[in-house]
Formats: sequence, C-alpha cells, structure tokens
Amino acid sequence: MSSPRSPGRLLAPESGWTTVADVVVVGSGVAGLTAALHAATAVERATGDVTAGSVLLVTKVLVDDGSTRWAQGGVAAALTPDDSPEQHLRDTVAAGAGLCHPAAVRVLCTEGPARLRELVSLGAAFDREPSGELSRTREGGHSRDRVVHAGGDATGVEVQRALVAAVRAHPAIRLVEHALVLDLLRTAGGAAAGVTLHVLGAGTQDGVGAAHARAVVLATGGMGQVYASTTNPAVSTGDGVALALRAGAEIADLEFVQFHPTVLYLGAGSTGQQPLVSEAMRGEGAFLVDAAGERVITAADHPLADLAPRDVVAKAIHRRMLDRGTEHVFLDARHLGETVLMQRFPTIVGRCREAGIDPVTELVPVAPAAHYASGGIRTDLAGRTSVPGLYACGEVACTGVHGANRLASNSLLEGLVFSARVGTDLERSLPPLGEPAAPTGDSVLLDPSVRADLAQAMTRGAGVLRSKSSLATTADELDELATRTSDAPCPAAWEATDLHAVATALVSAAIRREETRGAHWREDHPDESDSWLGHLVTTLDGTTFEPLELQ
Ligand SMILES: Cc1cc2nc3c(=O)[nH]c(=O)nc-3n(C[C@H](O)[C@H](O)[C@H](O)COP(=O)(O)OP(=O)(O)OC[C@H]3O[C@@H](n4cnc5c(N)ncnc54)[C@H](O)[C@@H]3O)c2cc1C
Repeated sequence: MSSPRSPGRLLAPESGWTTVADVVVVGSGVAGLTAALHAATAVERATGDVTAGSVLLVTKVLVDDGSTRWAQGGVAAALTPDDSPEQHLRDTVAAGAGLCHPAAVRVLCTEGPARLRELVSLGAAFDREPSGELSRTREGGHSRDRVVHAGGDATGVEVQRALVAAVRAHPAIRLVEHALVLDLLRTAGGAAAGVTLHVLGAGTQDGVGAAHARAVVLATGGMGQVYASTTNPAVSTGDGVALALRAGAEIADLEFVQFHPTVLYLGAGSTGQQPLVSEAMRGEGAFLVDAAGERVITAADHPLADLAPRDVVAKAIHRRMLDRGTEHVFLDARHLGETVLMQRFPTIVGRCREAGIDPVTELVPVAPAAHYASGGIRTDLAGRTSVPGLYACGEVACTGVHGANRLASNSLLEGLVFSARVGTDLERSLPPLGEPAAPTGDSVLLDPSVRADLAQAMTRGAGVLRSKSSLATTADELDELATRTSDAPCPAAWEATDLHAVATALVSAAIRREETRGAHWREDHPDESDSWLGHLVTTLDGTTFEPLELQ
C-alpha cells in the first residue's frame, strides 16, 4: 500500500475573491458553534472591540447538516451528589481501553458540568423531572444515571437549536452556509493564515476564494461516510482530517472507529446514513435477542450485559450474526409499553414505524454501523494542533479523551468543553494576521465515483472485523482507486479525494496495530497486547508508533 503521504492541496481554481476575519471557524455542529461563541468573546477581550464579522463561521451545506442534530441519547455530565467527576472519569477511562489521556479526561469530566449549565443558560431546554431537576438516564459503560436529554430522544436538535440561535444573535459572528473549505493557507513559516473555500453564493463571494485569518479552528465533525453504512450524515466526509494531513498536522488513533451496535436494519444493500436506535433504549430496559429469542449478551459475557461498552456489544452482535448467518439481530423493547416508548423515544418509534416496524408490538431488527471517530487531528488540552495557529475541536479532533473507544454521550460534552478551551487559548495568544505564502506541493483530485467503491471496500475489509489479509485487500483497492483521477474540480470530487486520504491513513494505522483493543478488532490478533500500549500517529511522512511511556 502507498504511504498515507498526501499531496499539498486539492486541485481547485485560483481564488477569485478574498475576505478577512480574526478567526475562521469551519463547521457548525456543537463544536464549531461553541468555538465561534468563545472565539468572539476571546477576540473582543484581546482587541477590546466587537467588530461585525471578526469571527467567520463557515459550513459546508446548511447550518444544521452535521451529526450534532442527530444525537439522540444525550450529554453525559456528573451533576448530582450521587455522582462525581471522578466516577465519570473512571467510566471514561475504562471504555478507552488503556489509551485515554488522563489529563484530557480530567478536563472533560471536571469542566463538563459547568459547560452544560452554560448551555442551559443559553436556552437549551433539557427534559426535567416534575421536581424541576434535570432528568437523567444511563447509557452503556456509565455506572451512574448521568446522561441528560432533550425532547426524549431529540437531544441534538435542541443543542443545535440553542447554539445556532446564540450564534445568529451574536454581533461579531458572520455565518456563511454552502461554504466548503478546501485547504489551509499557511505563512512562509508554516503557521495557519486562513483557508481556501468554495462558496455557492451570489455576487463577489461565489466560487473558490480565500478567507485570511489570524487563527483557524477546524470543527468539521466525523468521517462515517468512509463506510458504506453509517449513522453519520452525508457531510461527514473527514474533510478536516484530510486538510490537516495535507497541511502537515499530526493525526492520531484513526484505527479506533466506533461502530454503533444498534442501527435500524433497513434491508440488504442499504447504504449511507442509517437511523440509529439509541442505547438509551437499552438503558430503559430493552434487550438484544436473536431470531431464536436467545439473549445476545448476558452478564456472563460482561457484567453490564446489554449496557456493556459499545465495542463489546457490537462484537457480540457480529459474532451472533456470523454464527446464525443473519444480517441483523433484534432489539426487544415491547415490555416498555407504548406510553414509555412514545414519551422517551418519539423519534426512534417514528423512524421505525416509517420503516414498517412498530417497537410497541414488534421486535426491531438492528445491526452495527460506523458511528464515531475516536481519533482525528491531534490536539493538546487547549485545542492546538501541531500547526501553529490551527486549532481543532469536536469529533474531528483527537484530544485523547476517548482513547481506544468513546464512552456514550461523551462527544457532545467534548465539543462543549474543548471548544471553550480553544476560546481561552485564543484570548491568551491570538496570533497576528500572517501573509499566506504561495501554495506548494502537488495538487490532487479524484473522480467522484471513487466514493461508493471506497465505502464498500472499507466496510468489507476495515469494518467491525479486521485482519491482516482483509486490510491488505482494502489497501490494494484504495491504491487502485487512487488512479481514478479527475481534472474537473467540484464538491463531489473534493469530498471523494478527502475520503480517500482519510481511508488510506485509517487503513495504514489499522494494519500496523496488531492487537485487539477498544473499537479496533483484529481477528488475527484477538488479544490486547501491552506492546501496543501507545498511539499510532500519522503525518505526511507516514505512520509511527508512540509508546505511552515516551509521552
Ligand atoms: C445518529 C447519531 C447519534 C448520536 N448520539 C449522540 C449522543 O446521544 N450523545 C453524544 O454525546 N454524541 C452523540 N453522537 C455523536 C455526536 O453527535 C457527534 O460526535 C458530535 O455532534 C460532533 O459534533 P461536531 O461539532 O464535532 O461535528 P458535526 O456536528 O458533525 O458538525 C460538523 C460540521 O462541519 C461541517 N463541515 C464538514 N466538512 C466541512 C468543510 N469541508 N467545509 C465546511 N464545513 C464542513 C459540517 O457541514 C457540519 O456543519 C451521535 C452521532 C450520531 C451520528
């Protein structure tokens, strides 16, 4: 397989226009919206001025097209006396299978409650008990009821709504939709100086242009679309990771892709975004059975049984599907009754009914699908990447809080906590506006048809089950797809090229890690190995292993 070496930039027309801001934030999910609000405060404090448009927030399609609005389960935070950040930390570290960064997890769990209260004060309406207390539920891997939710199972919609309202009301933030960011602009010294982007706009800012800025914050979300079946929306094409790789940043832990155990099975050959059946349903008492009615996971397999961490449940389901030769198992929620199901899970029940299945009276067919990228652009505790002036937060970042596997409902929280920290760092050290240097390196563009074939290849060889031979086959297929180049720049071609860069880096790391740990399951190396206690870090120069004791 070719090394993950990426070229210098995407093939694109020369920039036809330029705009200037203090900070450019890319992406408008929980991370980008929170980062924009905190960046605006930081710029105001650093410069003593609220200038309209000093924070430019750009987003690929519509403001709410990312993963955030799809979040169902909720946001995890230790808010009550029967819980503590320490307990939340212990659960997070247990899910992370030895690779969590302890200081990052401590930040997440101790600062999380305050960030959540901040969101409530912005107007996010979480579900409450008759007493007025926030309602809490439990999800896989949590030893306490600490997951707060909104609209029953529509948490993401409410988080997105509240943050978008705050952003739209902020005088310093300029939001531009239909703005697909292509590459990082850098100074001659290598620092971030803005981005190139393609805007489907009117007038002077149509087509490819340049946004110059003192700092760039990447909040572009996940990369679920590298697989044929995923819970992620169509925009989750790993653009931020691909851009960062091309810009020379460090990428870490890409091999740890979380597969959600329970995605509604819509029939053989269904591709793209699939409806999630939240594990909060198992938190309320639903359980997994096979076609013969036998439980898929019991206390003998894992003490938390159906509420075991996601990788354990996904693997148990996969094993059962292989044993029985079926394409799915079932979730049994019938005993919860219509009142509970409609009150707690109106979205899921509605989506199942649309697909012709009624969870009140029928078993729900479910199977695992790609859900969450635990790895991404490596950052420190302030959200700084290895490129000066380039920050990353949210799912695109690898802060170290998830290690080898993410604990349920920790990602909205990570978006809130670490995006706020980006703001704090900007306030402390907002760089001067740098002059972008002329781009160097080759440009590349793949044909849009690569996307579907790449996703099928990744699902076949680099999915829930992986082995040396399956990964080698996928690597060969990716090499073959790299020959399908194009000279016709367009959003579909840019996305296909980014997906290819990310898939190549992911497979390269998955081949290297010869063990099973967290979300990375190697059939040919079924056990965890102490010699793999460390991170695989990918840059333009390839993938290297950093043992934990050297960090
Ligand atoms: C179905 C589902 C259910 C989930 N449930 C939960 C849950 O209950 N609790 C929890 O904590 N987490 C949950 N998650 C995970 C969580 O929703 C995400 O990890 C989180 O929302 C990511 O937020 P983000 O801001 O990093 O990215 P996103 O919300 O995905 O936003 C990324 C943004 O970047 C934009 N973008 C991407 N590329 C470009 C580009 N090149 N140029 C410009 N803009 C770009 C996108 O359009 C989008 O606006 C769930 C995820 C899914 C898919």
